[in-house]
Amino acid sequence: MSVTLRKFEKSDIPKKIEWINNPANNRFLHYELPLEYDKTLRWFEKNQYREDRYDTVVEVDGVPVGLIGLLSIDRNNGTAEYYISMGETDYKRRGIAYRASRMLLDHAFDTLQLNRVYLYTEVENRDAQRLFACLGFVPEALLENNVLSHGVYVDRYRYGMTRGAYVPTNDPTPVRLLDVCSGNRIYIKRDDLLPFSFGGNKARKAALFAEEVERLHSDCVVTYGSAGSNHCRVIANLCAQKGLDCHIISPDGADVPTFNRLLMKRFGAHITAVPVEAVHDTIENTLAALREQGKNPYFIPGGGHGNIGTHAYRQCYEEIKQFEKKHNLFFDYIFFASGTGTTQAGLVCGQLIHRDERQIIGISIARKCPYGREVVLQSIRDYLPAATEESVERHTHFIDDYVSGGYGAADDAVAATIDRALAAYGVPLDMTYTGKAFCGMEAYLKDRGVSGKNILFIHTGGMPLFFDYLKGSM
Ligand SMILES: *Cc1c(COP(=O)(O)O)cnc(C)c1O
Repeated sequence: MSVTLRKFEKSDIPKKIEWINNPANNRFLHYELPLEYDKTLRWFEKNQYREDRYDTVVEVDGVPVGLIGLLSIDRNNGTAEYYISMGETDYKRRGIAYRASRMLLDHAFDTLQLNRVYLYTEVENRDAQRLFACLGFVPEALLENNVLSHGVYVDRYRYGMTRGAYVPTNDPTPVRLLDVCSGNRIYIKRDDLLPFSFGGNKARKAALFAEEVERLHSDCVVTYGSAGSNHCRVIANLCAQKGLDCHIISPDGADVPTFNRLLMKRFGAHITAVPVEAVHDTIENTLAALREQGKNPYFIPGGGHGNIGTHAYRQCYEEIKQFEKKHNLFFDYIFFASGTGTTQAGLVCGQLIHRDERQIIGISIARKCPYGREVVLQSIRDYLPAATEESVERHTHFIDDYVSGGYGAADDAVAATIDRALAAYGVPLDMTYTGKAFCGMEAYLKDRGVSGKNILFIHTGGMPLFFDYLKGSM
């Protein structure tokens, strides 16, 4: 389930009228009823460009379900009034108001940099007050006879929250300046420091899969990956946390002693090793057998492929935009290790949505063109069907010049890069993904004579693979 906020548009007026006029919704609202189209249109036209309000529509998987926003935004004092009104009855009591409110508060405190958000709530509106308390609002005052509601004066509470009391939903991962000596300014975004299961892009994706598992009330998970798979380690950890059985289908021996494999076992995952040709059927058979036992398995494609994985990196792109805005700079290039392709697809989707002109460059760690690039293109089309084919093609740079021996195989240049990055920057890279991509990035910049640019390298994680490298060099 994907909850999103978007700006209130003129075309939302009929929905707003339907919601507000519904007696199930308007008991605690203060409109002149019934709400009518012409008047609402005048309201919209008068207010749509005002800077002191922020009116949005809450959508669940693209379906509009309610209204949320900020009023009386006062930039001098850093304050605003919060409001919410869920309209679609079927979508109530499912945690949507909570998630939408968190997004709005992220906007208020992170983007607008407000110091205080407050709200008013009728004393009788106890359901709403439970939500406000969960969000971290505290009651500050009882205001007697505060508002005229359906013909009588009623008491309201004022609730408030200060910036210091607010914990942002997702702190963006840190971005640091690494190197200015190479002729470019090279920054690194440390997705390897995401605070779950040794971090990495699979941890970013797994947070969204966890929401799906919860939404569908699944009681076990089936996924696929090799002994070195960061994805399988993170999913095994997620299952251990939630007390779910984790079934991993693996194309290589269950006893390959990589640190990721040791961790999967530590988390109690059931590992089925089969030849690569048998993987597809084994997945199908495992799912069928679990369903036969009355279970409700959730299947996660290898590497966290699919729209959910893409969405995770579209969100990462938003973090990058926020960083740029805050520090008043622009990354001309973004580099990272590209494997199954949704990390790249998500970043490109973010770029297409914002119409940014920059080079997003996936350094392939295994797949060759045209297949590897085609998978990225398809992931972008799946997520953004409205994007033009020309723009999707033009922004997808999948570079297969640095795969050396294929998946997991790397040459001395990569090993040298890992040793240098650890010593010079204190950053661990690995032979399968990040070391290869960093080495590839440096070669790419040198080969093409790129200089004087702002460059962002996304560290996509894989800490246990760094220790495999260290152990292998003993
Ligand atoms: C999986 C992985 C990648 C590749 O991500 P995709 O979304 O599959 O392209 C890159 N780096 C690390 C460390 C990974 O584990």
